[in-house]
Amino acid sequence: MTSQKKTPMDWRAEQFAQEKAGKQADALIARMKLSYPIDPLMVAKDEHPRLRAGGRNFGNRFDGKLKYVPDQRYFAMMYNTKYDTYCALGEHHPRTRFTIAHELGHYHIKHHREYLQHRRTSHASITEFRSNAVIEKEADAFAASLLLPTHLVQPIVNRGNLSLGAIDSIAGDFGTSRVSTSIRSVQLSHFPCAVAGIRNGAVSWIFPSESLIEAGIYPNKGVMPANASEPWDRCRMSIPGESEAGGEIQDWFQTYQKEHLDEVYVHEEYIPIPSMNTLLVLLTIDECDICEDDEVEDSGDW
Ligand SMILES: [Zn+2]
Repeated sequence: MTSQKKTPMDWRAEQFAQEKAGKQADALIARMKLSYPIDPLMVAKDEHPRLRAGGRNFGNRFDGKLKYVPDQRYFAMMYNTKYDTYCALGEHHPRTRFTIAHELGHYHIKHHREYLQHRRTSHASITEFRSNAVIEKEADAFAASLLLPTHLVQPIVNRGNLSLGAIDSIAGDFGTSRVSTSIRSVQLSHFPCAVAGIRNGAVSWIFPSESLIEAGIYPNKGVMPANASEPWDRCRMSIPGESEAGGEIQDWFQTYQKEHLDEVYVHEEYIPIPSMNTLLVLLTIDECDICEDDEVEDSGDW
């Protein structure tokens, strides 16, 4: 498989569809006036009887499934409870909660829903950022915003620079995984930061914060930077433990016309997620290191 580099324009188009899905979920939670942790089954219940949800342990068959039942005109959602083994009775693991929220995305996003009604086929999902299909990404974006709504998370995220400690605190309060919490936190952060996912020894995805894009720093997928190889080896061998390192912007990003930023320091926090065969990397940059220095200063003595 060849990996084509996305242009900033391609990246923007894909981003737009995902932002739209996220905003739809935000609006839904605001309308329902829900507080955190968001109960996605309560969101599903709000659509009853047009939507009926049920969960059981489906083993490794699928995470979630949504199907249209034409003769009775309702959608049936099935979610896998295999991750709930160690949860208290009636509670769901963050992975299960994400699956339910992802399937709600297929139900609520108009063109997903129409596709299911028209094709009359069930849709089995592998959720949480493991699929590259555009519709899966849209449903993931919907799910992440549903469980981590902008108006509830943004004020917390921007209390300071992003760190693993801050992410874990939000994940605990919102009942979400480290993966979705870090992606949402980066998206809602006003500071320059990004989160990368390393799989199979390569950078599989990177989500940047808006201020990084505004500074002309774009995600660069593909080759894994040298600093990541030791943490990746430990992740691969399921050896637990986070670690930190220091790298440069050019290790993780494309700067196009802004090569002067290539050697700027990037703080790296490595977080192994062995259950997903993913090494999460939180990347933070000091905003003073990338700010534009070409402003005209008026001396006032004209
Ligand atoms: Zn799906």
